[in-house]
Amino acid sequence: MAVSPDLLEILRCPYCVSGPTRKEGDDPGQLNLVGGGHWLACTEPDCGRKYPIKEDIPVMLIEEGDKWIDTPVDELPEPGPLVEPSTPSAVARPSDFGSSSTGYDQKRLAMLLLSILGVSLLIAGLLYFWRPSDQT
Ligand SMILES: [Zn+2]
Repeated sequence: MAVSPDLLEILRCPYCVSGPTRKEGDDPGQLNLVGGGHWLACTEPDCGRKYPIKEDIPVMLIEEGDKWIDTPVDELPEPGPLVEPSTPSAVARPSDFGSSSTGYDQKRLAMLLLSILGVSLLIAGLLYFWRPSDQT
């Protein structure tokens, strides 16, 4: 599973090479192969966008890169498939959970919700045990 070096040579971060957000320099927005070869990370210091390589196809969309700005390189997940399986027998799960979200996004969302739930329970528990001492 590899993207051709020739292709990597010409790929640039779309955010850093186009429009009003274009960076200074002769060749801005160069990309580094990271995350076990599954991600392309923009090398501009104030950019931080990372683009997943799905089934050997780099997904060079600014909105995709935006999602991973705050994710450290060593915490990037394995990119999902380029196209979600659409045959009903292949995967039994609601597919209209959000047309643009991948299975990994749903997994991350579920984990986020679970952690919020856990924190809420913790706070509720603390409040419950603290309350009697307030009623003096
Ligand atoms: Zn960039």
